[in-house]
Amino acid sequence: MRDILREGLRELGLDEAKAEPLEAFARLVLEKNRVMNLTAITDEADFARLHLLDCAALLTVAGFDGKKTVDVGTGAGFPGVPLRILCPDARMTLLDSTSKRVDFLREACGTLGLDGVEFVAGRAEEFAAQRRESFDVATSRAVAALPVLCELCLPLVRVGGQFLAMKSAQSDEELASAAHAIETLGGRVSRVADYTIPRSDVTHRVIVIDKVKPTPAKYPRAFGQIKKKPL
Ligand code: SAH
Repeated sequence: MRDILREGLRELGLDEAKAEPLEAFARLVLEKNRVMNLTAITDEADFARLHLLDCAALLTVAGFDGKKTVDVGTGAGFPGVPLRILCPDARMTLLDSTSKRVDFLREACGTLGLDGVEFVAGRAEEFAAQRRESFDVATSRAVAALPVLCELCLPLVRVGGQFLAMKSAQSDEELASAAHAIETLGGRVSRVADYTIPRSDVTHRVIVIDKVKPTPAKYPRAFGQIKKKPL
């Protein structure tokens, strides 16, 4: 795993020495995955590419140092933990509705000695009541379809900040179907960046949505409504 990570980081123009803490995190996830459902990817090389380098590739599109970021539906910590490992000056809030996963992340980040990380067990649409428009950046990978995801994430981002949605490269229709939600919630798509994950032939996409206007107070709605009647 170490070699793939080193080569991948080099390809991305990132610090190869970070292969070591990234691998240490992978080992903690894989170990815990034996007793808890954290990831379906258990092959080490695949883990390195499809989890760690996929998240690292986000840094070719956006910077996180000095920024307050919330990773919505972080699960086993993706992309939040790799981003925090790679950006020592990032402040990262890891948010997930499954408290067992958040407990694991607290323990793992403690073992890795990662500071500047906040752990929140809760639902994104409820978290907005406490921390509305207080983050510079929101990230999210593999959580929900874009119209729903925008209602979970955009209310948390300050005007002038960004929401980075990690999607498959086959997401044109999904993006088109989210146009109304993005506009209604105060966002504007500023970039759609496709990238090939280093050391693989897999192409993924980051959709960059700028927060250009405040989100109207009636959003986010309760999850039942968000799901039943996506914007
Ligand atoms: N981002 C991770 C995990 C994806 S699985 C990855 O890419 O590997 C989706 C995660 O989102 C699950 O852990 C689930 O608990 C969480 N989730 C789903 N809806 C949520 C919500 N409304 N608020 C917070 N977390 C949510």
